[in-house]
Amino acid sequence: MLKRFISKFKKNSADPHQAEIIARQDHDISRDNISENALKVLYRLKKANYEGYLVGGGVRDLLLGQSPKDFDIVTDATPEEVHALFRNSRLIGRRFRLVHVVYGRDVIEVATMRGHHDNAKGKHQSKKSDSGMLLRDNVYGTIDEDAIRRDFTINALYYEISDFSVHSYAGGMQDLNKRRLRLIGDPATRYREDPVRMLRAIRFAAKLDFTIEAKTAAPIRELAPLLLDIPAARLFEEVLKLFMAGYAQKTFALLEKYHLFEQLFPHTQQCINENAHYRKLVDLALINSDKRVAQGKSLTPAFLYSVFLWPCLLETARILREQGVPDVPAMHQAATEVISNQQTHTSIPKRFTIPMKEIWDLQRRLERRQPRQIDSIIGHSRFRAAYDFVLLREQNGEKLDNAGDWWTKYQEQNPDALYQKPERPRYNSRNRSRNRRDDGPHRISKGRSDQGNRDQGSRDHDGPHRVSNSHDDGPHRVSKRPRKPSRD
Ligand code: ATP
Ligand code: MG
Repeated sequence: MLKRFISKFKKNSADPHQAEIIARQDHDISRDNISENALKVLYRLKKANYEGYLVGGGVRDLLLGQSPKDFDIVTDATPEEVHALFRNSRLIGRRFRLVHVVYGRDVIEVATMRGHHDNAKGKHQSKKSDSGMLLRDNVYGTIDEDAIRRDFTINALYYEISDFSVHSYAGGMQDLNKRRLRLIGDPATRYREDPVRMLRAIRFAAKLDFTIEAKTAAPIRELAPLLLDIPAARLFEEVLKLFMAGYAQKTFALLEKYHLFEQLFPHTQQCINENAHYRKLVDLALINSDKRVAQGKSLTPAFLYSVFLWPCLLETARILREQGVPDVPAMHQAATEVISNQQTHTSIPKRFTIPMKEIWDLQRRLERRQPRQIDSIIGHSRFRAAYDFVLLREQNGEKLDNAGDWWTKYQEQNPDALYQKPERPRYNSRNRSRNRRDDGPHRISKGRSDQGNRDQGSRDHDGPHRVSNSHDDGPHRVSKRPRKPSRD
């Protein structure tokens, strides 16, 4: 399908400033596959005589026949002009200003096209750190300028609503055809501007099954430590995107290969290097997670983090025991230590640290099965996650006296004993849009949390994509599915 595009490219694709225009009849993007709300935004911008394009992952994924995670729009209207045009919008961010147009639970992100930093008028528009990291990016420009400010060539594809053509910059379409991930510009400079691009390279390579072009891959190992400069909160968001999208196992292998995993989880990396048994546990957990996503089942960050930090927990507890701390307090103290140590690398919100500790705490109780405790264990809100953790450990060869089997049978025989989350009142979409916190304790924020350092560390907005954290319908959850009382 995509092959035929190549023959259309007559222009010199090496010039990144020059767009290659792919006419409607030469590509397969149909408006039927674009979100209605994104189309509404595009048409409204057009009606008001602004330029408006669908850009980035939305175009890329549609061309690859996949369904996009979200739809991003760029325009030549300033954020203030966009805000004025849409009553249902809000201005977001300081370092990278943009607009969220809100349709109930759906949020369409509209960014103003960015220009060259040489054109900046003062520090309020553009700011770089000594190491070359972009701290502020509010210089507006044309589509040609905007394109080369994007990260990968396959993300510099724009869908034009007035004639349904695709504008491909920097050879984006050829790279898409060749299934190749290539940074626009000099890779080392682009990684220095925003080290998160290294993580994005891995994420897209794993998700799309693309190869990372040699020049794009070359500087990663050396520059990996630059991730230390990224705020822990932003890295937490990136970790969720890396491991909860259904490609976790492959992502993990690539992160390790490029020495990036050790930047995110240094203690875990050390433990899995020293002990193959731990590495296998992590690997099995990621295989299971990917299967769950493929089956449309739920995932929770708390489970992911409790697996990643389990080796650190056991090692730390062992050292404490050697120092004379009794078993149970050693585990509790170790839990607090490993979590706070990890939080200096990737933050972990409290709404996940508490369940993590509970999952860990329940391990011992699930193994012991003390008759007087059975009711409180099975009625515990983290029972299912903890039970899954037991199964995982057994799958990894740990001998837990058949605890997994025992609890499986117990649940079959006592289905009513399982924890049921109390019903919450239903909200209509108007309520939801006004009080978006009502519909899930955790969301991966959209916006420029991952848009360069464009809005580094600023979590001042929520996004359309959420990863909810309901343990009530299974141990892992990344879904917008309604809650179910039974384990799926
Ligand atoms: P997905 O939404 O599937 O994760 P995406 O490519 O759409 O992938 P977004 O984070 O939604 O990623 O960003 C939208 C677009 O914004 C990207 O395609 C890219 O063009 C641009 N972009 C995002 N982050 C960066 C960055 N760190 N540096 C440069 N451009 C970026
Ligand atoms: Mg996107």
